[in-house]
Amino acid sequence: MPDRYDVLVIGAGAAGLMCAATAGQRGLRVLLVEHANRPGKKILMSGGGRCNFTNTGTAPECFLSANPHFCKSALARYTPWDFIAMVERHGIAYHEKELGQLFCDVSSKLVVRMLLDECEAAGVELRIGCSVERVVHGDGGRFSLHTSQGRFSASALVVATGGLSIPSMGASGFGYDLARQFSHAVLPTRAGLVPLTLSGRPREQLEGLSGVSLPVAASCNGTTFRNAMLFTHRGISGPAILQISSYWQPGDRLLLDLLPGQDAHAVLEHARAERPAAELRTVLGDLLPRRFAQRLCEGWLSQLQPSRPMRQFTPAQLQEVAGLLAAWPLVASGTEGYRTAEVTLGGVDTDGISSRTMQSLSVPGLYFIGEVLDVTGWLGGYNFQWAWASAHAAGTAVCSD
Ligand SMILES: Cc1cc2nc3c(=O)[nH]c(=O)nc-3n(C[C@H](O)[C@H](O)[C@H](O)COP(=O)(O)OP(=O)(O)OC[C@H]3O[C@@H](n4cnc5c(N)ncnc54)[C@H](O)[C@@H]3O)c2cc1C
Repeated sequence: MPDRYDVLVIGAGAAGLMCAATAGQRGLRVLLVEHANRPGKKILMSGGGRCNFTNTGTAPECFLSANPHFCKSALARYTPWDFIAMVERHGIAYHEKELGQLFCDVSSKLVVRMLLDECEAAGVELRIGCSVERVVHGDGGRFSLHTSQGRFSASALVVATGGLSIPSMGASGFGYDLARQFSHAVLPTRAGLVPLTLSGRPREQLEGLSGVSLPVAASCNGTTFRNAMLFTHRGISGPAILQISSYWQPGDRLLLDLLPGQDAHAVLEHARAERPAAELRTVLGDLLPRRFAQRLCEGWLSQLQPSRPMRQFTPAQLQEVAGLLAAWPLVASGTEGYRTAEVTLGGVDTDGISSRTMQSLSVPGLYFIGEVLDVTGWLGGYNFQWAWASAHAAGTAVCSD
């Protein structure tokens, strides 16, 4: 006979820990199983080791999903302020970086410790290094987990197995397989918040710039992010690129405004009036990182002879340079993939899930929460906020029979 619980939660990551604690606090008997050798591995590595645990500017518009309305209910009922209250209750010091992003002052370990303490206080049983071999949905609607540590059954099963990014941290496609087992649709998955790679001519033209960064406004498919861009050995990264990568599909062209917030044409006109003898390449070298400006001149602007003094440029030519600075086109060849991606786009189709409870609409007692669902946040604490909010929605809704 399997050990009996009220709720089984698969995956002790951000969402699984939160859901287990929430359900346990309601007096339910909860088992949380994790196949990795420790819980919350992604929390530990997040935010450069300081966990960007939420964003005070969280809004449904900050999430990508085939159904942009799906995330609204859970986000409204468990807000960043609810999580902040828990963080403060546990005495964890934090600070705000740009744009409402909240980070621990000391270490991400404190967030994992907090969630484990919440689970412990709620009587949650946690099994680490526990591999789920199969899930059986038996007569009477109970779920039975066959694992490397025995058999467990419950009337509610919460799938919190996350996405595919960083397989070395325990990421697996198990949640998607489970969804398919129960006839749930899984939308195509791809890496998000990920560096982009370049190949061919742009790669050659930008060779050797690794480490150079500059502020840009990166646009793709009608969405724009203004932040830093960084050249890497294989392509481009930095927050602006990670953000836009979630909107990029193979073959799409990026447009990069290299003087964000400035009118490039006015800047160049001003330079011509003030420094008529200065060469265009010198002026660009003052506006942009010098080595990058040099590559722009050698490649994209070579036909305009950028070693000429500013006074020799016609208004139409300056307009052409301004056009390039305002919308530098770059075609990425791919992404760095799940090995480095922070998130997985796509996943369990929200059409089959209740947005209020995260429960399957077709299989009573089956829940999906966190990143395994087709809900993906921007960079900046939004993905954890989705994990907390969806987990809280399920944790308050699960029943014992
Ligand atoms: C490097 C990095 C940095 C990040 N930084 C931030 C940040 O600062 N702020 C932010 O908001 N987001 C950040 N993210 C994204 C964030 O970590 C995820 O969106 C979030 O962890 C998703 O929570 P989850 O519980 O759904 O999945 P996860 O946290 O990935 O947890 C899933 C758990 O399920 C376990 N599991 C998987 N398959 C099985 C199985 N078959 N059996 C048992 N257990 C299983 C996994 O081992 C894992 O512990 C970062 C991601 C990465 C990779």
